[in-house]
Amino acid sequence: MKHANISIFVPHRGCKMRCTFCNQNAITGVVSKSDIEKSVSRSNDPNAEIAFFGGSFTLIEKDYMLRLLDCAKEHMQKGRASAIRFSTRPDGINDEILTLLKNYPISVIELGCQSMDDEVLLANRRGHNAECVKDACAKIREYGFGLGLQMMTGLYKSTPQKDIFTASEIIALKPDCVRIYPTVVIKNTELAALYEKGEYIPQTLDEAVDLAARIYEMFLQKGINVIRVGLHTVEDFIAGPFHPAFGEMVQSKIMLNRVLSQLTNKGDYEIYVAENFISKMVGQRRLNIEILQNLGYNCTVYKKDLPPFCVQVIRV
Ligand code: SF4
Repeated sequence: MKHANISIFVPHRGCKMRCTFCNQNAITGVVSKSDIEKSVSRSNDPNAEIAFFGGSFTLIEKDYMLRLLDCAKEHMQKGRASAIRFSTRPDGINDEILTLLKNYPISVIELGCQSMDDEVLLANRRGHNAECVKDACAKIREYGFGLGLQMMTGLYKSTPQKDIFTASEIIALKPDCVRIYPTVVIKNTELAALYEKGEYIPQTLDEAVDLAARIYEMFLQKGINVIRVGLHTVEDFIAGPFHPAFGEMVQSKIMLNRVLSQLTNKGDYEIYVAENFISKMVGQRRLNIEILQNLGYNCTVYKKDLPPFCVQVIRV
């Protein structure tokens, strides 16, 4: 089911550290009750969830956090939203905070774990290790909240193998939903300095799409809901695999991989997919069809009543 959020960005006032890839100095300001009011009115969708994003919600000043939660709860009680969710750091989770949060209708707590490799976490100045992520997940579950996990690919000092390892560790934590973000270099970050010195080489767009497709497929196989792949927008972009249609490209790659795994002899084929997966199967500017053609497979895509990502291939 499509997930609708009323997104409210809370500036990163709670971060003690500064991650290599984050430009938190550029993000200042305070969210007020009227900002929430405006966002809720714009959404006009009682089934949407009020989502506080920004990376460190439970580490902002307690009074401020509670004011935001009280305001969101009021909107819910008036039937203007269905639940509250937020993202935070793994080291922003403890018994005291979770006990406070139990007073609010919170559906999901999302943790930015980014990597489950301690060397990568250290190199990127995350300020927590993989064990901290596991402890935070266990506590979130213990208190009965839904769990979301966010991971990044292509971080400084990471490798595709380490990113695949992160995905498998995330699967073991059984989250309700995940987000996958490729690392991009933005201005005024430590990563930008590393990039300029030639010490950090970002993934190419193709590499990032391939890897995200492999990771997405791992989550699909385990029935874990992938709610976002790729960044919406990037300000102060310098380098890296940003593309506004990144998620669509990843889903197209998954469809191509699934077809290729079913093809044997060269020739003509009919491919059946769900109606809203036709464009993903065909690919942007018919990329998938051309790749298949160049490999000797002449494919025509048809719609059929099938589940998402399901691919049926018939030799004609
Ligand atoms: S935890 Fe998130 S918000 Fe804080 S510095 Fe790191 S990336 Fe930025």
